[in-house]
Amino acid sequence: MAYDSENIFAKILRGEIPCDKVYEDEYALAFRDINPQTPTHILVIPKGAYVSSDDFTAHASDAELAGLLRAVGHVAREADLVEPGYRILANHGADAHQEVPHFHVHIFGGTDLGRMIKPADK
Ligand code: AMP
Repeated sequence: MAYDSENIFAKILRGEIPCDKVYEDEYALAFRDINPQTPTHILVIPKGAYVSSDDFTAHASDAELAGLLRAVGHVAREADLVEPGYRILANHGADAHQEVPHFHVHIFGGTDLGRMIKPADK
């Protein structure tokens, strides 16, 4: 799948639409999810143009890979989620219902998240 430079996170990265930013560095931008699923719900995205987890892990440089993961850890620490805990998740493709075609990691926290996931009824 080719990268669509008009996707909403690309527009946020270019500053064309606003976001509730919590962190930014050379490799990553983190902002609050517009429709939070948990008391704390933050998205961390790479600055590079990657469609999904598959694209990012196949094509990003080692520095970009490390930079994104370091940013996830930093944001979780800054949000005071290390204790009592948090969950990170990235949706790829149709079965995971990925909505925005720019790779992003969700950070969920601020409540008991239960164990793992509940698949939707088909
Ligand atoms: P996914 O299903 O993994 O692609 O998740 C996309 C996420 O992006 C959803 O949780 C949306 O609520 C969130 N989202 C969509 N548009 C925005 C926006 N403009 N600012 C912040 N979060 C957004």
